[in-house]
Amino acid sequence: MSPLRWPAGEKMKAMRDSSKMLAAVLYGKEDLRLEMVPVPVPGHGEIVVRVAAALTCGTDLKVYRRGYHAKMLQPPIPFGHELAGTVASVGPGVTRFEPGDRVVALNSAPCDECFFCTHGQQNLCEDLIFNNGAYAEYLLIPERIVAKNTLRIPEHVAFEHAALTEPLACVVRGLEETAAVAGDTMIVLGAGPIGLMFMHVAELAGIDVIAVVKREDQVASARLFGARQVVRVSDERDIVSAARALTPDGRGADSVIEAVATPMTWGWAVDMVRKGGTVNFFGGPPSGTRVALDTNRLHYGDITLKASFHHTPAACRTAFELVTSGRFKAVETITGRATLSQVPELFKKMLTRSRHLPKLEIKTAVFPGPGTFADLAEHEPAFAGAAR
Ligand SMILES: [Zn+2]
Ligand SMILES: [Zn+2]
Repeated sequence: MSPLRWPAGEKMKAMRDSSKMLAAVLYGKEDLRLEMVPVPVPGHGEIVVRVAAALTCGTDLKVYRRGYHAKMLQPPIPFGHELAGTVASVGPGVTRFEPGDRVVALNSAPCDECFFCTHGQQNLCEDLIFNNGAYAEYLLIPERIVAKNTLRIPEHVAFEHAALTEPLACVVRGLEETAAVAGDTMIVLGAGPIGLMFMHVAELAGIDVIAVVKREDQVASARLFGARQVVRVSDERDIVSAARALTPDGRGADSVIEAVATPMTWGWAVDMVRKGGTVNFFGGPPSGTRVALDTNRLHYGDITLKASFHHTPAACRTAFELVTSGRFKAVETITGRATLSQVPELFKKMLTRSRHLPKLEIKTAVFPGPGTFADLAEHEPAFAGAAR
């Protein structure tokens, strides 16, 4: 590595106190700050991961906008939860991992002992441990996540792609809950990151996908991610009829995935499904939201309503396999790259992105290097070719 390429980074490294690291901390509503905090030290059964790539996520944006999350502690809170990196240090008792291992550490792990865990619903575990703080140079991984939800990344898989395991696991679990099978017709409402992942995973499962999207730029993305037909929402159109008209004999879709999270689209989902079909309300509107659904359709149409949340260790492994096997379009999913120091600015921009968007943004990979893009190539080989 030529010192001429990045003298500033080298100098910064030399001057820095190695017991401190840069981290993004959420202080409240739209208040995200960069801070120097202590580098974590692993206790029994724990590991510390040097974050190589952390991905932006719709949930993070929601938390940023609202300033809190029901499942997280009150601010100030370390921020970010989709990551991959290398093991920097291991605590006493850790035998499965050693420094230098490339890993994905999921953002939670269930207890496997409570009522829900022993009834096949680990996603609803009463003692689900959550881990946050991926937008940082290092992250401490709790013992239970090390034991149950940390996966070793094959050499050929880039960190930024491996980090997709978490959101994809939620989608895999959601699809399993929807009980759709090959040959089914599925309508996916919404073409945000989760909607697009749903389309793609459904397509991989042999399901015929119809996408309902809002913006023009989302039409091409929906097709890229596996939708065979796309309906664009516009004021002058009856969107329910337009979508139903694309289903076999116009009878409605076998299943509908709601991935927008508005009362209106929750209603559409019920109106677009066929008799005997399943609706999965995957997008969660703010707490306290009420919706009006056609009870006649629900009852006489014998419609099943689901609302999948989060993931299970098994779903995480399925998702991980989708990425590492190359079946999932990971390259197309990462549409932006940023350094850790750009994270506060990035979230500010994401708040308004739907209004002035030059191109479709799905996920941005954050690289916690010393701050120059040239440096990123060092720990993210896949980035070397993509630097811009
Ligand atoms: Zn996420
Ligand atoms: Zn449990």
